[in-house]
Amino acid sequence: MPIKSRIRAIPDYPKKGIMFRDITTLIKDPAGFRLVIDGLTQRYLENGVDFDVVVGVEARGFILGSALAYTLGKGFVPVRKPGKLPADVVSQEYELEYGTDKVEIHLDAILPGTRVLLVDDLLATGGTALAAAALVEKVGGVVAEMAFIVNLPDIGGERKILDKGYRVFSLTEFE
Ligand code: AMP
Repeated sequence: MPIKSRIRAIPDYPKKGIMFRDITTLIKDPAGFRLVIDGLTQRYLENGVDFDVVVGVEARGFILGSALAYTLGKGFVPVRKPGKLPADVVSQEYELEYGTDKVEIHLDAILPGTRVLLVDDLLATGGTALAAAALVEKVGGVVAEMAFIVNLPDIGGERKILDKGYRVFSLTEFE
C-alpha cells in the first residue's frame, strides 16, 4: 500500500469545508513511516540538494524532520509556536484565513550562511512554510529546499513558494 492510501481523510475538520489529511494513520504503521522517511532520505542522498541542517515546523514537522535529520546525519532545529523556546528568539507573524499566527526560532540556532532543509507534513496555502523560511532568513540562513509529505496544489501554496524562487519537494498530492 502506498503512502497516499495510508493517509486518512477527515471531512469538515477543523471546520466546515476543510478536508483534513491526517498523517497519523500513515506514520503509526511501521511500513508507512519507513516509506516516508526512506522516500525523503533517498531524495536528499541522491539529488544533490546541499544543506547543513533540518528545520522542522511544530508539531508534525518535528516527527518527520527529526527522523530525516537522523538518517541523513544532520542536526535538527525546531520552529515553534510563540512562547515555547527558552532562549532569545526571532519571531515571524503570518496571515491565517481569520487573523494571524506567529512562529519562532532561537536566535542562535542557525549561523549566517547555514543551508536549511525546511520540513513539514503538508503544504496548503504556504503561509506556514513561508513564515518558517522568513525566520531562517532573519537569522542569516539560506533555505535550500522545502519538503512535505503532502502537497495540496489546488490551494496554491506550491505556486506561491515556487514564484518566490524556493525549491519544493513532496512525496504525494491530493486534489
Ligand atoms: P498552510 O500554512 O496553509 O500551508 O498550512 C500548512 C499547515 O497547516 C501544516 O502544518 C499542516 O499540518 C496544516 N494543514 C493545513 N491544511 C491542512 C489539511 N487540509 N490537512 C491537514 N493539515 C493541514
